[in-house]
Amino acid sequence: MVSYKELGLVNTREMFAKAVAGGYAIPAFNFNNMEQLQAIIKAAATKRSPVILQVSKGARSYANQTLLRYMAQGAVEYAKELGWENPQIVLHLDHGDTFETCKSCVDMGFSSVMIDGSALPYDENVALTKKVVEYAHQFDVTVEAELGVLAGVEDEVAAEESHYTRPEEVIDFTSKTGCDSLAISIGTSHGAYKFKPEQCTRDPKTGILIPPPLAFDVLAEIEKKLPGFPIVLHGSSSVPQEYVKIINENGGKLPDAVGIPEEQLRKAAKSAVCKINIDSDSRLAMTAIVRKVFNEKPGEFDPRKYLGPARDEMQKLYEHKIVNVLGSDGKA
Ligand SMILES: [Zn+2]
Repeated sequence: MVSYKELGLVNTREMFAKAVAGGYAIPAFNFNNMEQLQAIIKAAATKRSPVILQVSKGARSYANQTLLRYMAQGAVEYAKELGWENPQIVLHLDHGDTFETCKSCVDMGFSSVMIDGSALPYDENVALTKKVVEYAHQFDVTVEAELGVLAGVEDEVAAEESHYTRPEEVIDFTSKTGCDSLAISIGTSHGAYKFKPEQCTRDPKTGILIPPPLAFDVLAEIEKKLPGFPIVLHGSSSVPQEYVKIINENGGKLPDAVGIPEEQLRKAAKSAVCKINIDSDSRLAMTAIVRKVFNEKPGEFDPRKYLGPARDEMQKLYEHKIVNVLGSDGKA
């Protein structure tokens, strides 16, 4: 049993309370490898933004949960070396699917876990979430739960059918489970193909798809029922079209990839939404630069020569999100 506190990590409680009160949101960036982690920490340290490092099921099977935990511990020390005196870094399990997975993360030093029972019948979601909360809270680890179903695919999280969170359920759910934050479904979606072309309109000039707006009315209803309660948005990449273009111009094939427009996320960040998950955008940034380097320098075979520029681009992306979308700069 290792406490996250010994590793220099923090949980989400105070961070979220400040974000809700201050009208901004905390970035939750997924990481799977060293370059991504370096980019996240450099961006957060440079901009003095609290940050949530997310580990998904896919990341755990790709990189190993133990290794990722030690990387996060290293990230705290790295942040200090970068001059960030009091780094506000959370290590969070993304989409935990069983009590055992959540427990194993709590036991090895995660400071926050998500238990995603959103695909279960309501009562089973309540029971599972409550069990995780009771365990995690003994160690001051915070718990994110989910109500409502998102569309799209991200790692092994797939949902054929989405439905919005039902505002009439949120008071009952949060009071019965004791969860610290709630992920809701208001039209965001996992992956780089968030909407089918028939759900969108097409910009006549550029031919780029314009997605349907998020359900801000549902968000407002939820905020009315749970004033000040921390709300989380998953699947909130914007799928920057400049990266899609670079990928497609350099041998890639991502037709009609579409995300959530940044102005909608900016609006959400000012509300009780205090955690916004971004994963696909950094995958796109990395892929765009790697493809470009390979295309322009076919003789290159030193991974540092393509992963290095990819890392710099990811840092640029993360800083952009922190400053221009979430508003979390200068808050840590
Ligand atoms: Zn998610």
